[in-house]
Amino acid sequence: MKKRVIMLLVLSLMISLLAMGCAETPAGSGDGQAAVKLPKYVFLFIGDGMSYPQIQVTNYYLTIQANNNKYPAVLKSQNNLSFMDFPVTGSAQTYDSTSFAPDSSSTATSIATGNKTYSGRLNIDIGGFTKFETIAEKLKAQKDYKIGVVTSVNINHATPGAFYAHQTSRNEYYAIGQELIASGFDYFAGGGFREASSSMSSSKDLYTQAAEAGYKVVRTQAEAEALKPGDGKTIVISEHLVAKDMDFVDAMDYEIDREEGEWGLANYVAKGIEMLDNENGFFMMVEGGKIDWACHANDAATAVNEVIALDNAVREALKFYEQHPDDTLIIVTGDHETGGFSLGYAGTDYDTFLNNLASQKVSYSTFNSDYVAKYRENNTDLQTVLADIEELFGLKVPKNFAMAKEGSLQLNEYEYNLLVDAYNKTMQFGADRNANEEEELKYDKYEPLTVTITHILANKCGLNFGSYVHTGLPTAVFAIGAGSELFDGYYDNTDIFFKMAELTNVK
Ligand SMILES: [Zn+2]
Repeated sequence: MKKRVIMLLVLSLMISLLAMGCAETPAGSGDGQAAVKLPKYVFLFIGDGMSYPQIQVTNYYLTIQANNNKYPAVLKSQNNLSFMDFPVTGSAQTYDSTSFAPDSSSTATSIATGNKTYSGRLNIDIGGFTKFETIAEKLKAQKDYKIGVVTSVNINHATPGAFYAHQTSRNEYYAIGQELIASGFDYFAGGGFREASSSMSSSKDLYTQAAEAGYKVVRTQAEAEALKPGDGKTIVISEHLVAKDMDFVDAMDYEIDREEGEWGLANYVAKGIEMLDNENGFFMMVEGGKIDWACHANDAATAVNEVIALDNAVREALKFYEQHPDDTLIIVTGDHETGGFSLGYAGTDYDTFLNNLASQKVSYSTFNSDYVAKYRENNTDLQTVLADIEELFGLKVPKNFAMAKEGSLQLNEYEYNLLVDAYNKTMQFGADRNANEEEELKYDKYEPLTVTITHILANKCGLNFGSYVHTGLPTAVFAIGAGSELFDGYYDNTDIFFKMAELTNVK
């Protein structure tokens, strides 16, 4: 009996000694639980509009591609996206003070500051007066971390803005850009400033103001490649900005449109790691911003390619993690779901034909700017347009509609009629039209021809979109590295902030 008591005492002493040997335990969790390792390097990846459907469709698409499109040959599920193999997974609920289907500025506010607010607000409370300090600002002020903000959309867009700006409206792009410059953060990269000049003021544009504030502003890929850690605070803008859509200007190219050799999101993250790496620690937020844009437009193939681009960027962080496994935390999540995207469609029942996605060669956006605009200009005939659609999306008109095979990209009569109708609407009115209720549902604000093509292609894959905006699905949270165990469970998106703050010991 005595022996057993002594053994227990020795054992408990050993356990406490072991615990003391580990890194500090964050505030509030030192009550006898195993010590949590504290990260010094924190990566937060946010797929805008990325929830379970976007992740799972991309994963199955890659599985099918790797298996030569032989579904029955897939006997074992594969995790094709790097973050699917992270040891810790959770789910985050995303509602905001306006809606169960929230917007990107309020959800990013929740993730960056732990507060709920109205849709459209950026780090300002529902009263409109109180500003919230962000995790990035706290880490800079309290821990002297270096801070990086990377996005495939504009660097003053809602999600990146939520880490440094405080505005009652996310549309105050110029003011958000001025807050970016005032933040003193170390590395910004991706798309350009939206509204770099103010119509209200005659002052210099945001690029000039940034340079005057001490930022090295780089706008070509050659200059980006040449950047060295000693260069100080930098703003790195993609050389290949798309100024195609009315709503979506000066963002990086869509991954599906990206040319060979042109920098993608992963390159900006790799350069960011090089620029931010220091003994004291850093925080880097990376947004895959165009998953959302592609899902708004109901363009499945483009969305899948954007998820792959985000995963490639995560792989860059994983390389860093492998060199610093005890000090690095990587979190991958989304801010909300976009598009009401579903794996499964009424017209294909239990079948999916995901390989059909590979037939799409350009994004909806490039199709609009490089093709549809010219169709209207030249009054292009239907047969020519149908030939382009076959070339760029794989959809073809069969000799006999009855022969259209399920699972193929041959149009049936119903789909063909939808396409002809949309062609007529596009040639007549374009996206700027007074839509009736039926057209609202069929096309929303999008180009009738283009959105009809991407709808038909999605449906032929066994996929469907139920919305042109955001929905209320929870987002997935994946975590690896120091402190990752905190991200297990089903919680609120504000908890992502509280967990990061706890792990980095900021108040
Ligand atoms: Zn959105």
